[in-house]
Amino acid sequence: MDKTLIFATTNQGKAREVRAMMPDWEVLTLDDIGFLGEIVEGGSTFEENALIKAETIYGFNEGMPVLADDSGLCIDYLDGKPGVFSSRYLGEDTPYYKKNKHILEMMKDVPEEQRGAHFTCAMVLLAPNGVHKSAIGVLEGRIARRIAGDGGFGYDPIFFVPEAACTTAQMPAYEKNKISHRARALQKLKDILDSDFIEQNL
Ligand code: IMP
Repeated sequence: MDKTLIFATTNQGKAREVRAMMPDWEVLTLDDIGFLGEIVEGGSTFEENALIKAETIYGFNEGMPVLADDSGLCIDYLDGKPGVFSSRYLGEDTPYYKKNKHILEMMKDVPEEQRGAHFTCAMVLLAPNGVHKSAIGVLEGRIARRIAGDGGFGYDPIFFVPEAACTTAQMPAYEKNKISHRARALQKLKDILDSDFIEQNL
């Protein structure tokens, strides 16, 4: 079987992680397939947005399996924000060191026990005939006191994982890829990919 799929993202940080987690698959991104359109993430949940992304790209390039994720940071103290608006928080083009600094500033007087947060990832796999499967992965942690680490992307420098005693930006990529919300969602779909799901749904 041809092990090629499209991962519906232009986010190179995500693409790097998914490629590292799927060494036996050729993972094409939206840049690789020349998709220049816009995907309107109009859903109100991670699952809805992941399905919108997957179906948009399926329509553009029918016949190849599509993987899509929608993910974000949910901060307890901010009632789950930025949540599905994580990439648009403070503006899509605002650099993350500014977004991260802003969050730390807002939470500077918030005590440890109220700094809980989690990353969530909803991932959808669309087979060549359009049938889909989805999975959710969560990584629990808390908002750090200061920016730390230069690995990963996005909110990683302020996302502290107590069990690892560091932020996800301080973890080597292979460590983050073992425990991340994306890894957890993808692992569930990889089991489906490794079964005969694709052959059954050509
Ligand atoms: P999406 O591309 O609409 O799914 O946006 C996801 C956004 O959530 C990213 O742009 C980041 O802001 C944030 N995010 C998701 N996963 C991670 C992660 O693993 N580390 C840091 N930030 C993340």
